[in-house]
Order: sequence, then C-alpha cells, then structure tokens
Amino acid sequence: MVNYARFLRSIDLKATPKRLAILDILSRERIYLSPEEVWRKLKERFSAVGLPTVYRNLEELAAGGIVFKVIHPDRKLYYFFCSNKDHHHHFVCTGCRRVDDLKHCAFEEVEKEVSENLRGIISSHIMQVFGTCSTCSSVNKAGQ
Ligand SMILES: [Zn+2]
Ligand SMILES: [Zn+2]
Ligand SMILES: [Zn+2]
Repeated sequence: MVNYARFLRSIDLKATPKRLAILDILSRERIYLSPEEVWRKLKERFSAVGLPTVYRNLEELAAGGIVFKVIHPDRKLYYFFCSNKDHHHHFVCTGCRRVDDLKHCAFEEVEKEVSENLRGIISSHIMQVFGTCSTCSSVNKAGQ
C-alpha cells in the first residue's frame, strides 16, 4: 500500500479525502484515465463532487509531479499515476491505454545541440512515446 499522504505532503498539498481518493483511483489502474472517468469513480465515494473539482485536483497533482498528464494524439488530456520519482519518460499504448516507464532518456544529443549550436540552456523537457504495446500489436497481427 502506497503512502499517498506522504506523497502529498512532499509536494506541499494537504492530504484531503478527495485527493487521496483520486490517487487511489488512478493508482489502481495501469492505464490512463480521462478526468470524466476519474469523476465517475470519485462520485461513488463523494456523490456531490463536481467535475471542476476533479480537474483542479488533477492539475495540482500533475503540477506536483505525482500524477502524469498524457497529451494524447486525440487532443484530449488524460492522467495516470506513477510512483517512479527518477527522471524518466513513458511509453503510452493508444490501443489499451497501458502506460509503461521508459528508463532510457536520449536527451544528451539534444542538450549538446542546444548548448553548442544555439548557445542555450535547457531547463526541462517533455517526451512521450506513443505506440501499441506487445499485447495490442500481437492482436493486430492475429487479425490480419
Ligand atoms: Zn496495448
Ligand atoms: Zn513512470
Ligand atoms: Zn528525459
């Protein structure tokens, strides 16, 4: 059992029952969820909760870095929970919505180009890799 309260305190957010419930909902899934999906599940526990509250809490959790945003090719925003605190990126399956950690970060080349060619300094970077996971790609092959 993950200590969500400790997670929240580490990013200066109060461990409110709703935040704890949102983290619990997200962490039960290996897949990304839309704010509406989180909202539907949250309403089972807090019947009066509004969708704007869910949006706001998800944004706060994402800003604190315990919840990650998926910027999806369908232009909608999704969220998922990842407890990995080390710098890493994600492989997102658009077939079954599964998200996996990528240990590899190939940003040295880009950093070198920015500092040598542009004389700039990178402060942060975002990389998200989309594709189909091994399960989804084998299903696709079997269907052909
Ligand atoms: Zn998949
Ligand atoms: Zn991760
Ligand atoms: Zn990186």
